[in-house]
Amino acid sequence: MEKIQFNDLGAQYTTLKKDIDAAIANVIAGSHFISGPQVEELESELCAFTGRKYCVTCGNGTDALRMPLMAWGIQPGDAVFVPAFTFYASSEVVSLCGATPIFVDSCLDTFNMDPEDLKKKIELVKSERKLTPRAVIAVDLFGQPAQFPEINRIAEENNLFLLEDGAQGFGGGIGNARACSFGDASATSFFPAKALGCYGDGGAVFTDDAELYARLKSIRVHGKGSMKYENVRVGLNSRLDTLQAGILLPKLHAFPAEDKHRNRAAQRYSAALKDKFHTPVVRDGYHSSFGYFTLRADSEEERTRVMDALKAAGVPSIIYYPCPLHLQKVYAPLGYKEGDLPVAEKLAKTVFSLPMHGYITDETIDYICGVLQKL
Ligand SMILES: *Cc1c(COP(=O)(O)O)cnc(C)c1O
Repeated sequence: MEKIQFNDLGAQYTTLKKDIDAAIANVIAGSHFISGPQVEELESELCAFTGRKYCVTCGNGTDALRMPLMAWGIQPGDAVFVPAFTFYASSEVVSLCGATPIFVDSCLDTFNMDPEDLKKKIELVKSERKLTPRAVIAVDLFGQPAQFPEINRIAEENNLFLLEDGAQGFGGGIGNARACSFGDASATSFFPAKALGCYGDGGAVFTDDAELYARLKSIRVHGKGSMKYENVRVGLNSRLDTLQAGILLPKLHAFPAEDKHRNRAAQRYSAALKDKFHTPVVRDGYHSSFGYFTLRADSEEERTRVMDALKAAGVPSIIYYPCPLHLQKVYAPLGYKEGDLPVAEKLAKTVFSLPMHGYITDETIDYICGVLQKL
């Protein structure tokens, strides 16, 4: 068998080569490298896919999270509620605005933000009267949307903005609603390893709010006003290259088939491994795009043993994420300690992710499951 890849971007390119090569050649022939026509074409296709009214593509997923916070005027003295078990960018953008991230615990089965703990953390901040609660960032971890029906209600009751971090969520859904359509705004990332990735950095913000849309477009290009050399606010330089937009179009067209393939692969993994590990739980009525297939071991020792055995058998596995955000060095000044967010801490010690992508073969999955079943 060939070397097993964690995420086989080569297999995707082999399949889509004709269309991707043509898209790249087209952009170069047009020589409109920044804000070329493919960028708007992609934005309108992303709106159709997600069901959002407006899409603003940008330089990366981190900027896509940061731009709505900037547009809402999140500033020092503000509290923004973020899950502790996620990638650092989800809270880094809060710190970049000078605001304070308030970390929320996760659900043990779905890995996503626990709405009950969110309520508790909001009450705590309100009773302390030191920070102004302003926004919630809920993350669609590993492909499954966060519990937006509940979280949306809590955000509304407390008059908080709700931002969906859909960097891993693209393609997921709840009922008929698609990921990147939840909350006041949504952000996604086109980093190459994401379910919908480009060949460099890229991202997008989504909203249904026309006024926010106008502000996001201004922030994307140096806070421009009605023309390029009129500047009305402090913004960023964060555009999606035309080349990346050109590459994303055929990849977006291939996405539904890849999503089906990943879901079938997840089912095959789960059927073989459910008696041995805690396999991913997708809530009733939810759809995961399974950008990652993440298992939970019973202990840190078991995880080490399993990952060592996988490595010896030539199977790559990765820990997303080994340290919850409240215990990261950068947040030492906030004064969190071990035990503050027990579920997030437990997840960081026990999760590991297996190879998963839109072109993984049954043969590969069966080989990996064989290695795990023998342990
Ligand atoms: C990847 C990721 C981001 C950041 O996206 P970039 O494009 O790398 O800046 C933010 N949040 C989550 C949950 C991510 O997985």
